[in-house]
Amino acid sequence: MYYDRERIEELRKQGEEYVKKVEKREKGYRYQVNDTEIKCIHCGHDRFQEDKALLNSRGLSFFDLDWLNDSANIAVCKKCSFMHWFADPIIKIDN
Ligand SMILES: [Zn+2]
Repeated sequence: MYYDRERIEELRKQGEEYVKKVEKREKGYRYQVNDTEIKCIHCGHDRFQEDKALLNSRGLSFFDLDWLNDSANIAVCKKCSFMHWFADPIIKIDN
């Protein structure tokens, strides 16, 4: 298949954008909960990976965590992997 210059340039740009996107995801994102930015309480880092934990109600009652409802929001520190648990939603800050 023949690729002209323009097509190669386009592919190169697509590749770069893809790499940037992956890098950004790897680095993690900044988040806030109730208007307060999340900072890792262990290492102070400010980039996290968002996750959700589904907990069955039996487990919740056992740990006296019924206030969590059936899901908890987790921000995992990208640097040290410390897991921060929140009952309120975690909101991604545009960066
Ligand atoms: Zn950390």
